[in-house]
Amino acid sequence: MKPLQLTESDGSNKVTVVGIGQVGMACAFSILSQKLTTNICLMDANADKLMGETCDLLHGVSFIGDCKIKGSTDYKDSANSKVCIITAGVRQREGETRLALVQRNVEVMRNIIPPLAKYSPKAIYIVVSNPVDVLTYVAWKLSGLPSEQVIGSGTNLDSSRFRHFLSNRLGIASTDCHGWIIGEHGDSSVAVWSNVNVCGVPLIQLNSKFGTPDDAEKWHLLHHDVIQSAYKVIKLKGYTSWATGLTISAVVRAILKTSFRALIKLSNLRDIRRGLLV
Ligand code: NAD
Repeated sequence: MKPLQLTESDGSNKVTVVGIGQVGMACAFSILSQKLTTNICLMDANADKLMGETCDLLHGVSFIGDCKIKGSTDYKDSANSKVCIITAGVRQREGETRLALVQRNVEVMRNIIPPLAKYSPKAIYIVVSNPVDVLTYVAWKLSGLPSEQVIGSGTNLDSSRFRHFLSNRLGIASTDCHGWIIGEHGDSSVAVWSNVNVCGVPLIQLNSKFGTPDDAEKWHLLHHDVIQSAYKVIKLKGYTSWATGLTISAVVRAILKTSFRALIKLSNLRDIRRGLLV
């Protein structure tokens, strides 16, 4: 049987993060602190901010171990990356939907994707910028790369939030609470109630109305909480970042370490197919 390979195994684990705003830096910090890479390239259009963030990380590199951290505005420095994470672009303001960002962020993709793809034609691209599902398609088209090389973060974050809310209500560790949110990231996402389980025990076996509007226990409101999560956090602190950084690092781990657990959690079916069928 041919071994499954997500990336070419030449020993390199270079990761490029384009867009070093709140989300990009949360991704970089999560990846570095878990020692998933020994070579990270940070890129942004804002050279001063880029220099500041790079220096700040470098000042702590002795706690990470042997790791090259480079900040650059020149796409040549991203060459031969194994994974490229795209977080550049505008984010939602309070009350604004993700879809409202589409025109501005398509323009950003036009600037970023062709040079990235030129220098790292074999990388796996993870699009995070919103509206993520639309921009993943745009990035794929702009890249000229095979579809399995361009994935989006999809509903990975939504599923993570779902697991948190399940855990919170059940009083059971979120690592033992499993559930998928599928479809489009955000407002129109869909909760897969039939699949929600705690350590493999489906909750629908315990409550046949689980997740339906007729359920006296009103579990379906958890999906509402998932959808409202970003709006709530943005209202409170202006942006979301940490949970996204953690979910993206789980995908990077899956790609670089060929561990499929996190990829299978990418509940957008097309993303799963793209991730696995290389
Ligand atoms: P931010 O404003 O903090 O950072 C955006 C960065 O992109 C800035 O540093 C900016 O200089 C840079 N940038 C803009 N245009 C660029 C270009 N052409 N080339 C290079 N860099 C460029 O925003 P943020 O809070 O980090 O959010 C980034 C994106 O991530 C937003 O679109 C946001 O909606 C999205 N997001 C997605 C998810 C998800 O689950 N998919 C979760 C949270 C946020």
